[in-house]
Amino acid sequence: MENVIIIGTGCAGYTAAIYTARANLGPLLVSGTQPGGQLTTTTEVENFPGYPDGIMGPELMMKMQAQAEKFGARIVWASVESVECRADGTFLVRAGSESFETRSVIVATGAAPRHLGLPGEQVLIGHGLTSCATCDGAFYRDVPVCVIGGGDSACEEADFLTRFASKVYLIHRRDKLRASKIMADRVLANPKIEPVWNSTVSAYLTDDQGEMRAVQLHNLSTGAQHELKVACVFVAIGHVPNSSFVGNLVDKDENGYILQNPGRTATKTPGLFAAGDVADHYYRQAITAAGQGCAAALEAERYLSGQ
Ligand code: NAP
Repeated sequence: MENVIIIGTGCAGYTAAIYTARANLGPLLVSGTQPGGQLTTTTEVENFPGYPDGIMGPELMMKMQAQAEKFGARIVWASVESVECRADGTFLVRAGSESFETRSVIVATGAAPRHLGLPGEQVLIGHGLTSCATCDGAFYRDVPVCVIGGGDSACEEADFLTRFASKVYLIHRRDKLRASKIMADRVLANPKIEPVWNSTVSAYLTDDQGEMRAVQLHNLSTGAQHELKVACVFVAIGHVPNSSFVGNLVDKDENGYILQNPGRTATKTPGLFAAGDVADHYYRQAITAAGQGCAAALEAERYLSGQ
């Protein structure tokens, strides 16, 4: 019987592992389908404290892994399919052909940015296609970029990008933003942001080096197609939290984000904690996910010592 199983190996999962390992709980991590989480898909991370010269996302995650393993955390390279809570309050975690018994679980499976599903998309990520203006915006100074989406995230990204880009096109499939009024008003009043209404992106166009050079726009009202020159596309059409495998052990909001007990990482099932982007649609930063991983570890430790 394990003391704690941590599901997910992003910032939240590894931080939870470091803390529970140092508390002598011998955590077992289950990696998930994207070991290292979302930071493995970014290039340079300039806003993680402690790295004044920045650090590449994959390297940061390897350092976190090494730190967790140094204190005795074990990693199973598999993907969890289900978590069951048994009558005695312990859990059964199934991952592929293996199953594990544990007294507590920390769910840190993150969220995946939603993408359009266009050809060549996966290869373009990090080469002019991204979902994180905070991470990548500063690389696109004095060039035109675009944001796809019409919600608060898209508006926030567009507003942030005006610090760097020469022009920010906001491409939205309708003629009205979904974002809150304050965000929408701010964006529409910004002279560097040009909304492109009733339009979708039907193709990403690349240069000889495979870097983004333009998008093919499709006007949904007129049916017209035209090219728009942009150095980078920021996709902000929502995220999909990786929470389906926990079933009814947790409450979720209408978008599938796990609901934590107020001010805690605990959920409605005693012994089951949630940390990071799987429970957070608001901050979604590496450092906030790491902070929640720490909080979940401390709560799990207290839960176990109270048993
Ligand atoms: P969202 O509110 O769900 O907006 C997603 C946007 O993407 C919508 O405008 C939607 O278009 C568009 N979209 C979805 N699928 C698309 C597709 N296949 N092709 C083109 N466009 C597509 O998501 P979000 O902006 O990430 O926000 C999520 C939640 O976090 C919201 O509750 C939001 O208020 C909150 N949030 C708050 C803040 C803040 O308060 N500072 C910041 C960020 C997020 P339609 O409008 O046509 O559906």
